[in-house]
Amino acid sequence: MACADILNLERDVHCLEEAGIELLHIDIMDGVFVPNFCLNIDILRALNKLTNIPLECHLMINDPERYVEDIAEAGAEYLSIHYEATPHAQRALAFIRRKGMKAGIALNPATPVDVLNYIIDDLDLVTLMMINPGFAGQKLIPAMIRKIAETRGYLNSRGKENVEILVDGNVSIENIPLMVEAGATILVGGTSSVFREGHSIKESVELVKSLY
Ligand code: ZN
Repeated sequence: MACADILNLERDVHCLEEAGIELLHIDIMDGVFVPNFCLNIDILRALNKLTNIPLECHLMINDPERYVEDIAEAGAEYLSIHYEATPHAQRALAFIRRKGMKAGIALNPATPVDVLNYIIDDLDLVTLMMINPGFAGQKLIPAMIRKIAETRGYLNSRGKENVEILVDGNVSIENIPLMVEAGATILVGGTSSVFREGHSIKESVELVKSLY
């Protein structure tokens, strides 16, 4: 939703509904963990009133535990926090589940896959950043395709075939086939796919769906 037209959010949400989008990805930043700001909990709450599409929230803030309850109350179905943003990732993930949401851990590009080792039983979702988070429009870091495949192998070898792998950042028309082949199961569409300039959301989503 960070790439939608903020002055026409309602219109864009209805276009996404008509196009058959399955989740809305809500980026929330604090200007500290990442050098930018983005959407917020009020927008999350408003989107929850506007649509039945499940809301999937990606927190890019330090000490994300502080806002888990507010985000649950605002109506998110999934919540991903960053591994790098808290010294107590396991406790935070368990807290997210206790509040009735599906728990996700997000990994920055430089964070290795084996940090999942001792939180693997607390996860519904792994969010793999294909770029360093903070700004739309960046180019894929090539090693991230290998990281998707490594993560899928890591999870499957531990009996966690059901844990989703979400890819976030430069999920473009060119990159989507590579990402899906490597094992991504949830694609976050931004300016290089769903919100391409000069193309309608409907047309872009149809193209994306034809790629996998
Ligand atoms: Zn995101």
